[in-house]
Amino acid sequence: MDYERFFAGALEALKTDGNYRLFADLERHAGDFPRANRHGPDGVSKVTVWCSNDYLGMGQHPAIAAAMREALERCGAGAGGTRNISGTNHYHVLLEAELADLHGTEAALLFTSGYVSNWASLTTLAGRLPNCVVLSDEMNHASMIEGIRQSRAAKRIFRHNDPEDLNRQLAEIPAEHAKLVAFESVYSMDGDIAPIDELCDVAERHGAMTYLDEVHAVGLYGPRGGGVADRDGCAHRLTVIEGTLAKAFGVMGGYIAASANLIDFVRSFASGFIFTTALPPTIAAGALASVRHLKESSREREIQQERAAKLKHRLAEAGLPVMPSESHIVPVLVGDPVRGR
Ligand code: PLP
Repeated sequence: MDYERFFAGALEALKTDGNYRLFADLERHAGDFPRANRHGPDGVSKVTVWCSNDYLGMGQHPAIAAAMREALERCGAGAGGTRNISGTNHYHVLLEAELADLHGTEAALLFTSGYVSNWASLTTLAGRLPNCVVLSDEMNHASMIEGIRQSRAAKRIFRHNDPEDLNRQLAEIPAEHAKLVAFESVYSMDGDIAPIDELCDVAERHGAMTYLDEVHAVGLYGPRGGGVADRDGCAHRLTVIEGTLAKAFGVMGGYIAASANLIDFVRSFASGFIFTTALPPTIAAGALASVRHLKESSREREIQQERAAKLKHRLAEAGLPVMPSESHIVPVLVGDPVRGR
């Protein structure tokens, strides 16, 4: 087989369909958020970044940079191993305790990214619970879809944010089967928010576990940044809350928060947790400083909500096709978008 020809042909098809991805080569300016240098074929130009998941600019917060510098001086660059093999740094332990406190759960577990936390946790839970059927919102993120797929558990897709469809589908599953309802709080493509309480009502009625991805909500909603479930006073109803440290918290890494037994179960059985090097202490220290800061300070959240509302208003005034959204997300219709974040 001519492998090179195969690769080139596949890429050509992507280009023909308008789905080929181009990256902007950026150099962010610390202290001048959201400005950056753009390295292009004609040299370097100054740009303003209008599309970012560093929702609160925490990636450049002085307290976080200071915490990361201090951890670098104290512990060096890398973790030195997987969590099993001497890679568990004290910063990881502190951060897990801080995240459990943020979500009001008994425990939390860190992963190297939000993607990995979804993939590893869902693969492990759905794959190991006896006769598990996963009910997945039709708009769920690729990391959840991949985790569910690799668990080899039976899967049913329910209509987006639709408790009635979820109820109908759960009623068809035998009572003795384990059931796991997986959904997000803020959907970042359209900016809509899940009816978390109603979905929990339905799940409880059928004895199903709930798994909520709060990746686009942690740090941003709730009095201490615990997410939409925290804001709506229903965090205690979720079996698992999953989040990222890479978006509003401005650093990197992912986690789940849940009961001590569930966390210990995933810690003990998830290949995507066990067999990979732990996050560098610098990253854990930066994330810790960010979570602590946003627990105490609502100012960033308030300013961001106000700015997002202003931007939506101005875009609409200028006649641009901005879609209505209930969250901080500002979705704009651009032809036939490729779904993905
Ligand atoms: N879940 C959702 C809903 C996302 O949009 C993303 C996007 O990146 C992820 C999970 C993955 O998080 P991370 O970027 O930390 O890997």
